[in-house]
Amino acid sequence: MSRVAYVNGSYVPFANAAVHIEDRGYQFADGVYEVMAVRNGRLVDLEPHLDRLDRSLAELSMAPAKSRGSLSVVFDEVVRRNRVTDGIVYVQMTRGVAKRDHAFPDASTNSLVVTARGTPPRSTSIIEEGVDVITVPDIRWKRCDIKTVSLLPNILAKQKAREAGAYEAWMVDESDRITEGSSTNAWIVEESGDLVTRQLDHAILSGITRMVVSDLAMRQQRRLVERPFTLEEAIGAAEAFLTSTTSFVTPVVRINRSPVGEGVPGPVTRALYDLYESHLSGQVHD
Ligand code: PMP
Repeated sequence: MSRVAYVNGSYVPFANAAVHIEDRGYQFADGVYEVMAVRNGRLVDLEPHLDRLDRSLAELSMAPAKSRGSLSVVFDEVVRRNRVTDGIVYVQMTRGVAKRDHAFPDASTNSLVVTARGTPPRSTSIIEEGVDVITVPDIRWKRCDIKTVSLLPNILAKQKAREAGAYEAWMVDESDRITEGSSTNAWIVEESGDLVTRQLDHAILSGITRMVVSDLAMRQQRRLVERPFTLEEAIGAAEAFLTSTTSFVTPVVRINRSPVGEGVPGPVTRALYDLYESHLSGQVHD
């Protein structure tokens, strides 16, 4: 089956899908994006993703390329045309095509690209065995709360992890505190069972999975403490895990090769994994 992409108003064969060479996304990374999960053909957490997209756009003084309603129609259509049952939708909006000049163009139409693809079920070894993370200095700019396509430090961090045989790189700020992963939020579980994850500020992205997992945990009467934590604390924690739209809840069992807790996925992480799985399949209701 051939894939289809949505590009600026048209559904086009994936192989020919393209934007102009003077698109500001291409030249300046002047754009924002979202990645949403598709489960059983249904978009998961559409509203919070649209909220975050609106916020990212507003922070960059970009007008939305389409209303929320029209956008969700496009998402559904791209999912349908690509026959995605379980997978992801990617949406990217840039400030559009304009003669190269750093300042915003007087007139340009935002570019909008939407793609979708199926993803194979995750290997059960990830939840059974957990993953390794390494740490790298956080060399990003001071507005990591904006979900921009400008991802060079994240790419370099993920590549370092790949080369070290690790799943993810956790980034460490100038006060030796972990901010987040290159494409995931970072969590630890204390001996008491309390969850710790960094507070929402300009140093991290407000992950939708982070939000959902916080909510699910609190419904289970689990205490959530939003504060920065150090590498030392993470290695000494009872458990650690990471969250994102594509990694769900993933146990972290080693950091810089040092085991966390028993060096195996812990009970709190497993319970949250199961709860999040139920959320993905639409089995958790308000
Ligand atoms: N932090 C960063 C830097 C990310 O790129 C992502 C993934 N978009 C996340 C956290 C997790 O966010 P979400 O749960 O919304 O996928």
